[in-house]
Amino acid sequence: MDLIDPFQRAITYLRLSVTDRCDFRCVYCMSEQMTFLPKKELLSLEELDRLTSTFISMGVKKLRITGGEPLVRRDIMTFFNAMGRHLESGALEELCVTTNGSQLARFAQPLYDAGVRRINVSIDTLDEAKFAEITRWGRLAQVLKGLDAAQAAGLKIKLNAVALKGFNEDELFSLLAFCHERGMEITFIEVMPMGDLGNENRLDQYWPLSDLRARLEERFTLTDLSRRTGGPARYVRVNETGQSVGFITPLTHNFCESCNRVRVTCTGEIYTCLGQEGKSDLRAPLRASTDDELLQGAIRAAIGLKPKGHDFDYSRGVSDGQMTRHMSHTGG
Ligand code: SAM
Ligand code: SF4
Repeated sequence: MDLIDPFQRAITYLRLSVTDRCDFRCVYCMSEQMTFLPKKELLSLEELDRLTSTFISMGVKKLRITGGEPLVRRDIMTFFNAMGRHLESGALEELCVTTNGSQLARFAQPLYDAGVRRINVSIDTLDEAKFAEITRWGRLAQVLKGLDAAQAAGLKIKLNAVALKGFNEDELFSLLAFCHERGMEITFIEVMPMGDLGNENRLDQYWPLSDLRARLEERFTLTDLSRRTGGPARYVRVNETGQSVGFITPLTHNFCESCNRVRVTCTGEIYTCLGQEGKSDLRAPLRASTDDELLQGAIRAAIGLKPKGHDFDYSRGVSDGQMTRHMSHTGG
């Protein structure tokens, strides 16, 4: 029973945010004073399990756990371990995590044991002072220890770096070299217009990846790769090193035609497009009946409303299509 949206896209990828909380306060993601959801609003671990398992029974093959910071949710390993049963049965093909890395020293091995093989770790700079500035509360050394632990456990790592004008432009080649030396992939992300409209203008931080790519091409020869993940990332190979580099360019390219994903928040809201306000509630149908039929109906109805694409656009010098919610709400 496959999930097919109105534009004939099969939905096989669920990104699940398990908490809105985080131990960092990255400037492009959260404000310093965040008001978090009361705990009673959150789905319990059992409810997250039932919700996710229902998606899997409806054709989801890939599950990414995100947040907030997923590894700060209490007892989250219980949930990862429970998802292992879907990997064992073959219903689920891949279980991944996106993390800021702060808790990896502790969780890398348990994650591997639960069946996770690939993780994304977000690092925008390798300079300790700049790292503290951009994450406000983060410490680079702790994250680097986490990377070591993850590699020792056998996890494959992809580094996610948000491209920020005037902030990490000068680290383009050092970030690349760092990843190459450690056998990690790297993906650059364009900063997206999320967050408070008033005092957080993402346009000031916007470093288009078309510029970043041109900078890379001054030193390297790049070959476009056909590898697609159904998502926003496009990949190139750096011929001189053999390393592949990803670009997530929601603003300079549109990737919606091949979108295979939906996002669910820790309160059970489903967002069928990162760049649109439209959402539906899955918590009420989840809680209304222990039978999964109601929930399945609500999932189908939500996917029936999946929009064709997003409307982000900086091309007119203003951030059109800005979302008022923070990225930590849906987990990116
Ligand atoms: N806390 C985890 C982490 O940082 O990897 C997972 C959640 S975080 C919201 C997921 C990704 O969203 C991170 O790679 C982060 O850099 C990215 N992100 C946050 N705000 C963003 C924004 N305004 N534009 C682009 N990417 C953003
Ligand atoms: Fe936390 Fe990730 Fe947002 Fe940074 S990007 S504040 S680590 S949720």
